[in-house]
Amino acid sequence: MKVLVIGGGAREHALCRSLSQDPAVTELHCAPGNAGIAQVATVHPVDQLDGAAVAALARLLTADLVVVGPEAPLVAGVADAVRAIGIPVFGPSGQAAQLEGSKAFAKDVMAGANVPTARSYLCTTVAEAAEALDAFGAPYVVKDDGLAAGKGVVVTSDRAEALAHAASCMGVSSGRQDGGRVVIEEYLDGPEVSLFAITDGVTVLPLQPAQDFKRALDGDEGPNTGGMGAYSPLPWAPEGLVEEVLETVLQPTVDELRRRGTPFSGLLYAGLALTSRGTRVIEFNARFGDPETQVVLARLRTPLAGVLHASATGTLELLEPLRWDEGAAVTVVIASEGYPADPRTGDPIEGLAEAEAADGTAYVLHAGTRLDGTGQVLSAGGRVLSVTATGADLAEARGRAYDALASIRLKGGQHRTDIAAKAAG
Ligand code: AMP
Repeated sequence: MKVLVIGGGAREHALCRSLSQDPAVTELHCAPGNAGIAQVATVHPVDQLDGAAVAALARLLTADLVVVGPEAPLVAGVADAVRAIGIPVFGPSGQAAQLEGSKAFAKDVMAGANVPTARSYLCTTVAEAAEALDAFGAPYVVKDDGLAAGKGVVVTSDRAEALAHAASCMGVSSGRQDGGRVVIEEYLDGPEVSLFAITDGVTVLPLQPAQDFKRALDGDEGPNTGGMGAYSPLPWAPEGLVEEVLETVLQPTVDELRRRGTPFSGLLYAGLALTSRGTRVIEFNARFGDPETQVVLARLRTPLAGVLHASATGTLELLEPLRWDEGAAVTVVIASEGYPADPRTGDPIEGLAEAEAADGTAYVLHAGTRLDGTGQVLSAGGRVLSVTATGADLAEARGRAYDALASIRLKGGQHRTDIAAKAAG
């Protein structure tokens, strides 16, 4: 199977790493990729948002499968462009990706499918936003309706801050004229779980749950980020959680989207809060989550290409049950100085080879990196690396991840020191 992966972050490096280990994969390509992906795949400098260019590359390579990693190309319809030339693609259509691209659309689908989520108001004026904030009270949850790379959500007890975020999403200060919409919703208390499912639009195959750490600093302090680390499994999760979420969230959502004429195939990501009143959906994403993918794929034993191909070709029902490693996986993100507000880039990264364990239990996935003319790896984004390790349990995996991280040097690099600490006990 010739596979082309679209994207260039640590999620795509994790996907490429798993695909490169699948004996069914004879050729692996990635566009645009990064310095780490270039070690396991042939990289191509193609604009990932340009559907025509991606489809042309897939045709040139005579790809058997295209895997679209990030949300932006999905929402831009890149999967549609590839599907239109008859090449199987893992990832939803632009319309179905609105499940992530518009929080208002997601809320509407959940209402139609009777999926438990936070009560919410869709607001288009600051006055409406103020009214909604007061209806729910503190802590306030304010969400940009559109894609915002994980940074469109503000959770705060400060009403002025909440209202200011609503106003900025509406473009009140920037003069944005596109009628920016804001979702204001009730605060959900309780631990968060990320549960991924692979679907072909009919059959839904849940993966193992993971937890990520959204805030920049230890102890869940600091601003929201794209994610600073993750682990799997969740020893504290209630028994039967995956079955419950399949029955009450994942399958009804997939059925509802099919019923609406926008069938969803690819990766359905449910961000959940386990509240005292039951499991609630915080958000849906239309693709593998980063950094949870790094730990979920670290534990998947079934070769990946066949699973993704079955989703792309509507044959998931025929797939054998997935096999999982009984052990644990932990990933810790190294971000650049100033992330998330103002990340500094272009610094050399040292110690990458030393960080890798000879037995494969610890390895470095690249997020924002590039090679300079001399072959030196440089930082090239906010999240730079995702140091991933496996072990018999979370304590061992965590120890290995932090040991590996200790040999990496990046000027101003920052990471959390408490990833999986509580769960590892
Ligand atoms: P999202 O971009 O929707 O994933 O939101 C980012 C983060 O904000 C989530 O992972 C939660 O930690 C937090 N969050 C979002 N919605 C809520 C909510 N209704 N109640 C509490 N926290 C929330």
